[in-house]
Amino acid sequence: MAVDITALLAERRIAHLDRRVRGRPFTFAPVGLMIHHTASPRTSGALASLNVVRLGRAGLPGPLSQLLIGREGTIVATTDGYANHAGTGLSSVLRRVIDDQAPAGRARFVGSQVGNRHFIGIEIENDGVGEPYSAATLTAATRASGAICLGLGWNPLTRVIGHKEWTSRKIDPTFDMFDFRSRVADEIRQPRRTYRPGERILDPDDPAAIGIDVWLVQVRLTQAHEAMPDLVSSPGPADGIYGDRTARSVASWQAFLGIAADGLWGPQTQAATDAYDRR
Ligand SMILES: [Zn+2]
Repeated sequence: MAVDITALLAERRIAHLDRRVRGRPFTFAPVGLMIHHTASPRTSGALASLNVVRLGRAGLPGPLSQLLIGREGTIVATTDGYANHAGTGLSSVLRRVIDDQAPAGRARFVGSQVGNRHFIGIEIENDGVGEPYSAATLTAATRASGAICLGLGWNPLTRVIGHKEWTSRKIDPTFDMFDFRSRVADEIRQPRRTYRPGERILDPDDPAAIGIDVWLVQVRLTQAHEAMPDLVSSPGPADGIYGDRTARSVASWQAFLGIAADGLWGPQTQAATDAYDRR
């Protein structure tokens, strides 16, 4: 079992480096996301932790997380599989994540629940003893977390926890996790201006191509895909984001309707769809 980290980032068109290694040979079935800091010296520079995160260190075989955020905000995918990042923590915390209850804050006990199979880990380069987090680093961590939550259908307010919320052994990350979760939720929220499907032209290269109209288009495409899987490709999860997968699905739908298969959903595709639905 594995998660395709680079595909989740690519769906949101998030620039990243692909330095993936094989995961540890254990079952990996994540239900949430755990945020860490590397505790590496601030003078060690950007991505100085990359090899340790990929390959591990004495006594702790790698990989040590699925993603690394460098000091300058670079996002690196390090594995799709099981990684040694969580250690043991509280089964009550895992239960709250699965039940989509808001995290209860700093863990009060060490805990004996093994966490690695249940959590995707993001390591953020920071010394953990006062090094400021740059805006670029926090933005990168927020965007990567948003991409994972969107791709896997997770609520960022309940499925993203800090290591310090998992076990009392840990202090990472040192920033406020309520604030971080709010940033992730903001990152993936719907835009305020709403459009009806067909009211504008949806283009995967347009970062503003998110919203309720996209969501409705994706629902319609999912129906078409389920009815005619050989003719219409899946748009991916209905997440309100007009990514490349949705555009490819639109192109296959347009080809089926016999109109220009450009992957852009606008008034013409809407009209052809309406005509098809009224037939
Ligand atoms: Zn940690």
